[in-house]
Amino acid sequence: MFRLITIAGRTAFEIGERYVDIATATSDASLSDPLVAVSRVDELHDAYAAAVASDMTTGLVRDVTLDAPVPTPRQVFGIGLNYREHARETGAELPPAPLTFTKYPSCITGPTSQIPLSGDRVDWEVELVVVIGRTTRHIPVASAWDCVAGVTLGQDISDRTVQRTGVPPQFGLGKSFENYGPTGPALVSLDAFSDLNNIALRCEVDGVEMQSSTTADLIFDVPTVIAYLSSIVTLYPGDLIFTGTPSGVGAARGEFLRPGSVLTSWAEGIGELRNPCVTGRGPLAVSN
Ligand code: ZN
Repeated sequence: MFRLITIAGRTAFEIGERYVDIATATSDASLSDPLVAVSRVDELHDAYAAAVASDMTTGLVRDVTLDAPVPTPRQVFGIGLNYREHARETGAELPPAPLTFTKYPSCITGPTSQIPLSGDRVDWEVELVVVIGRTTRHIPVASAWDCVAGVTLGQDISDRTVQRTGVPPQFGLGKSFENYGPTGPALVSLDAFSDLNNIALRCEVDGVEMQSSTTADLIFDVPTVIAYLSSIVTLYPGDLIFTGTPSGVGAARGEFLRPGSVLTSWAEGIGELRNPCVTGRGPLAVSN
């Protein structure tokens, strides 16, 4: 197994409280690029084990600010209404196929970034995020995990007003304001999980639990989502798939993030995101 973190744009192994720059650990400078590291994960298991066994240390994780595990993915997919309870709370029909939208890659940020709120209806969506590890097209469901480098945790932050603007509404921009895609803290290899199809996740706003579920409740599980996407588009190393959010979003509660709110998200075996919310800027007002 391995845990990858990114510090100042460079990949590192996270080993308990310490980290080791991956170029130091492997004597291969090219692995410092997160997009390269995720495309060569088969090589990382042994290197990680060796780094764990050594006393190699570049520094302590608590002394650095983590970037997103993959700061510059080529493509970022989001899956809507992928938990039954969440579909119910929105009043929507169950989707006949993975309801897929784009989060533009520029919204991806690290696990402790501030979230500048674009309005008064900005919502949380805690999600398991899959990181693709190889160029993939038409992969069968049965082998779909084989193209995955690992998983991380994400928040699919959503401005409900912008997301719902127009007929038909287009979700992409409302989910892509600056820092609307916090991810991290680490990219964790698949063999670190006892059951890949049952990973617990939850989120809190100012210490109050808002969402708590497990990926066992996904309507379209991870292999099905990957196989479906790859039947239409080519997936590339470093691509992110936000796999959907459980029930408990703010829109269903009539509550939203406010400047000063702290959004805390957690996933079993991955770790925690902690994102303070601040006042941001809304979209430009335009007319037709
Ligand atoms: Zn979502």
